[in-house]
Amino acid sequence: MSFFTHKDFDNHEQVCYFSDQDSGLKAIIAVHNTQLGPSLGGTRFFDYASDEDALTDALRLSRGMTYKSAMARLPLGGGKSVIIGNPKTLKSEALLKAFGNALERLNGIYVAAEDSGTSVPDMKVIHQQTEHVTGYHEKVASDGGSKSGDPSPATAYGCYLGIKAAVKHKFKRDDIAGLRIGVQGLGNVGYRLAEFLHQDGAHIIACDLNEAALEKAKQELNAEIVGLNDIYSQPMDIFAPCAMGATVNPETLKQLNVTIIAGSANNQLDTLKTGEELHTSGTLYAPDYVINAGGIIDVCYEHLGLYEAEKVNKHIEGIYDTLIEIFERSEKDNIPTALLADTIARERLNQGVPTLA
Ligand code: NAD
Repeated sequence: MSFFTHKDFDNHEQVCYFSDQDSGLKAIIAVHNTQLGPSLGGTRFFDYASDEDALTDALRLSRGMTYKSAMARLPLGGGKSVIIGNPKTLKSEALLKAFGNALERLNGIYVAAEDSGTSVPDMKVIHQQTEHVTGYHEKVASDGGSKSGDPSPATAYGCYLGIKAAVKHKFKRDDIAGLRIGVQGLGNVGYRLAEFLHQDGAHIIACDLNEAALEKAKQELNAEIVGLNDIYSQPMDIFAPCAMGATVNPETLKQLNVTIIAGSANNQLDTLKTGEELHTSGTLYAPDYVINAGGIIDVCYEHLGLYEAEKVNKHIEGIYDTLIEIFERSEKDNIPTALLADTIARERLNQGVPTLA
């Protein structure tokens, strides 16, 4: 397996492989860049078809985290870890503890958090072995109630604000009442996002594999439910991908007739070429790692011991301003938002370590 010549190698500072025979742990931790601080990124537990696929994911995702945190003005670098195997059958306390020991050996240059296949309770087990993990504390929510370490509500709040920024730029209005918004995936982020949108008077069109989530959305949010493959062709103003990656691609572009694409999913575009096509056709795309940064902002404050709901919400509200900056520069310089986001993230990476208020 090549590494320094790997197509996704991007001067990563360190990539480590860990194994533990007794628990079956096989993990890769990729530290892309620590210029702004310790690298922080989720732990993905997934049944990769090959070790090569796992490495590719770790390389790509860790680079993405450098850009996401720099863009969100956090004193964090970019890293990501992957655990190879089916979480439903392989995950055990012993394996999570072995992973915690692996984190401990890296001495804090990488900090783990939940991602697909891992959860808040998993982070609590990992924390028994190491301090280099976050996303598990009970916190005080902005309404005074309690909030688990789960960063999803923060991600949903950031996406909601990101949609409002896109609406402001495209439709020149501050409200979203009456807009038709397609939400693909009513999971931890998508459902909460749909609640925000519904509260503001938007009409929700939703799809998911999960029948219970669909029924709930129908009852609580008056959502219009459509089939998994029918979502793209619905008459909508906004498409919000909140399930898996690459659902905006040449095939779905043939069906999508929307003004804005803005949602929480990572890697929404299959390629940058799709981003260019959106730009040419006048569809406004809110770059995924900008709009979905609420979660990393949330866990960053938690990890640094600075968590206060109001401060965190204020920081998340910066997503609105960042997106407006991207949309305006994209228009002025005629550069697709997906490309421009990387340029602005690199600018911010070189502006020094941000301090949190
Ligand atoms: P989740 O697993 O809770 O929800 C995903 C939902 O999508 C589930 O309800 C699932 O049934 C549904 N789904 C799966 N396949 C589908 C399909 N083909 N069509 C429609 N729905 C489908 O995940 P989440 O935490 O809500 O995250 C959603 C997306 O946002 C993911 O791409 C994730 O990487 C990204 N994201 C999440 C966070 C966070 O804080 N949770 C942060 C940044 C990015």
